[in-house]
Amino acid sequence: MAAMCYKISINSNINTNGLLSPPPNKLHSHLLLSNQKFCGRRTLASPPFSLIRSKKCWHGSLRVSNSSQSSASNSFDVVIVGAGIIGLTIARHLLLASDLSVALVDAAVPCSGATGAGQGYIWKAHKTPGTEKWDLMMRSHQLWESLAKRIQLQGMDPLEVLGWKKTGSLLVSKTTDESAILKRRVEELSQEGLRAEFLSSNDLLSEEPELVVEKEGGAAFFPDDYQLDAHRTVAFIEKGNRHFAVEGRYAEFYHEPAIGLVRHGNSCEVGAIQTSKNTLHSKKAVVIAAGCWTGSLMHDLIKQPDIDLDLPIKPRKGHLLVIENFKSFKLNHGIMEAGYTKHQSATLKATSSDSGPVYNAQDLSVSMTATMDASGNLVLGSSRQLVGFNTEVDESVINHIWQRVGEFIPALRHESLEDLRESREVRIGLRPYIPDGKPVIGLVPGFSNVFLAAGHEGEGLSLALGTAEMIADMVLGNPSKVDAAPFTLLGRCFH
Ligand SMILES: Cc1cc2nc3c(=O)[nH]c(=O)nc-3n(C[C@H](O)[C@H](O)[C@H](O)COP(=O)(O)OP(=O)(O)OC[C@H]3O[C@@H](n4cnc5c(N)ncnc54)[C@H](O)[C@@H]3O)c2cc1C
Repeated sequence: MAAMCYKISINSNINTNGLLSPPPNKLHSHLLLSNQKFCGRRTLASPPFSLIRSKKCWHGSLRVSNSSQSSASNSFDVVIVGAGIIGLTIARHLLLASDLSVALVDAAVPCSGATGAGQGYIWKAHKTPGTEKWDLMMRSHQLWESLAKRIQLQGMDPLEVLGWKKTGSLLVSKTTDESAILKRRVEELSQEGLRAEFLSSNDLLSEEPELVVEKEGGAAFFPDDYQLDAHRTVAFIEKGNRHFAVEGRYAEFYHEPAIGLVRHGNSCEVGAIQTSKNTLHSKKAVVIAAGCWTGSLMHDLIKQPDIDLDLPIKPRKGHLLVIENFKSFKLNHGIMEAGYTKHQSATLKATSSDSGPVYNAQDLSVSMTATMDASGNLVLGSSRQLVGFNTEVDESVINHIWQRVGEFIPALRHESLEDLRESREVRIGLRPYIPDGKPVIGLVPGFSNVFLAAGHEGEGLSLALGTAEMIADMVLGNPSKVDAAPFTLLGRCFH
């Protein structure tokens, strides 16, 4: 049987430099394949999607045409499952750092998972020095900064290409206790050599005029924090990866869920990934980077009595409210309330209806985040809920986010959410949550060539490049730039 392989042709939304043109107001939408349009309601039976709900759908297209190829063209050095920011950047790193060939498989398309909903904070402000993730975060941010610099050196604008902005970050306190915690954080991060200062409520007004707190409050200010636009960044990385398609080193298999691992007899080596349409042979390694679906996927893929993998990754649902082309005021920085780090519990009442979602108030936490993205949209968040794979919009959560942000930015109270309905978008994503708070990055015990990279919860964009480098080094047998031991599966994912 002749195997099918995808050849890619790209429409005029993406120019030859990998830049998006015209300025991508509509990029908070999915990249769609084969002129498919998606703006309807997802049923739970459909493939994994995080959703962007708006009155608009993006009608751009990224065409992927089928062509018959010999089965040899379905053989790659590395097969990666999951084309979110983690899978995409792993592919990128392998393509740039070696001469290996890479296949990227996704059940849907890149921004359909958590990645498409990400707010884009590349922040150190809420990270703690000395913790197990600190070095990985520092390395990852270093790699993001050098990528932005390289883009600039090539005569392109990182803002245009990645939505990359040095906004600085403000962690905002309302009470004396929170202010004391933030002052300690400023001290701690200053000792690490980062620029940081505590702003009183008065000083805060001159830095961010719309942000109002009482005199007990204030903000920890970290001027060197960044943000990016996940959709622009994904488009750029995809474009870069696709340059390697010409020399036969890269192929995408979208809308092809992985459904099986093919082992060489009883050996500990996986020889291929079976998708819904193809058998993709892997000569060197298989990497599973399927976000919150990784746990159930591995459970389905590994049906070996000798391997008892229990990967505790769960979907943690998040809503973001985007007000497009917001003109009433500007925000200068990325903003987050101090309580974010504790995932402050909200007091929203449980709701239940025949058509709507059902959840327990204990599962919901909402903390204020606010920023303006590269397209001038006001991006407000965010919520966290453990409600399975449900991706329905919950209006009560949106109202709760709106109210919470209004407590910090009173000017918003003069706006009616109802009046803004026409210009609003709701993004929903399922963060890959692991109870111990660290991603899993490493070899699956029991296999010699299967690696996992998943569980980044609310920091997958921030940690992506560091994770990609770490996995690539493991696959290539290079020494790791950052200690990988904290992220091993051993002792965390087995009975
Ligand atoms: C509201 C919100 C705000 C956020 N803000 C930030 C932020 O400011 N900064 C930050 O760093 N992070 C943020 N995050 C977190 C970040 O978005 C995630 O950590 C990151 O996107 C996870 O990337 P991933 O590639 O692991 O998963 P995903 O993006 O979910 O990708 C997984 C992919 O696997 C595919 N897949 C699933 N099953 C299969 C299968 N069987 N076969 C093939 N493919 C499969 C899916 O289709 C999907 O494309 C935010 C998340 C949310 C929800």
